[in-house]
Amino acid sequence: GLYNYLPFGLKAVQKVERIVREEMNRSGAFEVQMTMVTPSELWKESGRWELMTEMCKFKDKRDSEICLSPTNEEAVVEIMRKSIKSYKNLPVNLYQINTKFRDEIRPRFGLMRAREFLMKDAYSFHLDQDCLNQTYQKMYDAYERILKRIGLEYVAVIADAGAMAGPEQQTHEFQVVANTGEDEIAYCEKTGYGANIEKASSIRNTEDLKQINKSEQKLELVATPGMATIRDVCEFLKVPQVQSLKSLVYFDETNEKFFLILTLGDDELNEIKLKAAIQSLEVRPARDAELDHLGLPKGFIGPVGISDKVEVLYDSCVDLDAFYAVGGMKEDMHYTGFSPNRDGQTPCRVADVRLTKQGDLTSDGKGVIAIKRGIEVGHIFQLGDKYTKSMDFTVLDQNGKAVPPLMGCYGVGVSRVVAASIEQNHDENGIIWPASIAPAQIHFVAISKSEESTKICDEIYTQLLDSGWEVIYDDRKAGPGFKFKDADLLGLPIQLVFGERDFAKDGMLEIRERKSGKVHKISRDEILEKMTEIYKDLV
Ligand code: ATP
Ligand code: MG
Repeated sequence: GLYNYLPFGLKAVQKVERIVREEMNRSGAFEVQMTMVTPSELWKESGRWELMTEMCKFKDKRDSEICLSPTNEEAVVEIMRKSIKSYKNLPVNLYQINTKFRDEIRPRFGLMRAREFLMKDAYSFHLDQDCLNQTYQKMYDAYERILKRIGLEYVAVIADAGAMAGPEQQTHEFQVVANTGEDEIAYCEKTGYGANIEKASSIRNTEDLKQINKSEQKLELVATPGMATIRDVCEFLKVPQVQSLKSLVYFDETNEKFFLILTLGDDELNEIKLKAAIQSLEVRPARDAELDHLGLPKGFIGPVGISDKVEVLYDSCVDLDAFYAVGGMKEDMHYTGFSPNRDGQTPCRVADVRLTKQGDLTSDGKGVIAIKRGIEVGHIFQLGDKYTKSMDFTVLDQNGKAVPPLMGCYGVGVSRVVAASIEQNHDENGIIWPASIAPAQIHFVAISKSEESTKICDEIYTQLLDSGWEVIYDDRKAGPGFKFKDADLLGLPIQLVFGERDFAKDGMLEIRERKSGKVHKISRDEILEKMTEIYKDLV
C-alpha cells in the first residue's frame, strides 16, 4: 500500500491535480494546505480518536499523541473556529490537495486502494441548508466537469449516508465504470437513475412475480435430504425459486435483537436497507452458537414455530397471501405450501430489504436497471452540524445568536483517478492515456543509426519543444520492435516515428495515434501543422 511515483506516473498525477485545482478554483473554493499530522485532541473532541480504525497513531518526543491524517474534518473545523465568528463570513469552501494515510485493512490494486494516497478534499461551511445545497450542487457540477475534462466514462450515483444521517442529507459518489471496480452500481440509461447498489431502490420485474404460487396449498412437511441451499431445494421440489422463501437470521447490535429475514428465494438481502428498516447502526449474521442456542437448525431454518425471541421480517416483494417452500425447522426437512398470513408468526414486519438486481424496473417504472461495476473516484457529502456541534464551533447569526454552521465535504481520489483511467482505457499492448492527463503528448520514436539522421531527430525534438509540445524522446540505441512495444505500453496519445531507411527513401515520417491505431505519413516540414491538427481531435 505504499507507492513511489516515478517520472511518468508523477506527470499524470500532476495533470489530474491541475484539472482538479482549476475546477475547484472556478467554483469558488479556496486552496489551503493543512498539516499531514494532526493532534489527538481534535479527534477526541469529535469522538473519532477511538472510532477510526484506519488511523495511524503515534507519539512525539513530548509523549503527545498524534496521527497521520486519514481525512481532515476536525482540522478544518479548528481553522474555521479560530478565524470566523460571524455569519457574514459564510459560506466558505476550503480545499487542499494533500497526502492522506489510511491503514486500510486490505490495500490492493496498487494506487486504487493504497495506504498512502493523494486526495483533494474540500470542506464547506454554511448558515443554513439552502446555502449548503447550493454549494453542494456547485461541487457536483465541478466534479462532472473534472471527469469530463479527463475524459472518463462515469456515473454519479446516490450513495449511503449512514444510519445517523438526516433525511435532507444528500450524498453522491462519482463512479468510473470499469469491470475491475470494487463497487456495484445500479444504473438506468433511459431515466438517468444511478445508485450505489447498497442504496438502490427498484421494483422487481413483474414477469418473475407472476410465477409466485397463489393457488391454495396445504402446509406440508417434506423430506429434503442434504439440501441446504435454496437452489437445491427448489430443484428437488421442482418449483421455481420465487416459490420459496430464503431465511436469514441476523443480530441487530444496536437494539440487541434477533431477526428472521425472509426474502423471495432468488433475492439477496441488502444489509444497508435492513439497517435502515430496523433503525440499527450495526447488524451481522447470527453466529452458529447463537443459532444453536435459539434452537435453529442451520440450512433448514424457517418461520414456522420460530422462537418469540426472534422477530420476523418479510421483504416487501413477498406476497403474504401466496404459498412458498420454506425451511422445515428440522434437519433435512422443508415445508411446502407455507403462507405467511395463514401460517406465520404475527405480528411481523414488512420492509424493502432486497438487493436491487439486473433487470429490475426503476422505482418510477419507466426504465430497466443494469448493474455495472464502478471505481469510486469522488464522493460528495452533506455532513450537517455533526462536526461543528461536537467541536463547539459557532458563529453569530443575523439575530446575534450563536449557531453551529452546517458542513459539506467533497473528496476526489487524485491518485485513484490515475489508476481508474488506466483500468478504463487500455488494450493488450498497454495503457491508452486520455490526452488530458497523459504524462506527455508525443512519444518520439527515433530509429536512427547514422550521425546524420540522429542530427535530424535532435532538431525535430527541439523544434517540437520550442512549439510547446510535451515530448518523450526515445533516442535509445535499440531496435524498432523494442521501441514500438515500449511506446504502446506507455500509451502516450501520439507516436511520432522517424525511420532512418524510410526517411532516406522519401523524406517521410509517420504519426501514429495510440488509441485508434490510425497512421499518417507526413513530410518533415508538415510535422508541426499535422501534429496540431491530429492532437486537436484527441482532446
Ligand atoms: P472507499 O469506499 O473506496 O474506501 P471512502 O468512502 O473511504 O472510499 P472517502 O473517505 O470518501 O473514501 O475519500 C474520498 C475519495 O478518496 C474516494 O472517493 C476515493 O476516490 C479516494 N480514496 C479513498 N480511500 C482511498 C485509498 N485507500 N486509496 C486511494 N484512494 C482512496
Ligand atoms: Mg475507505
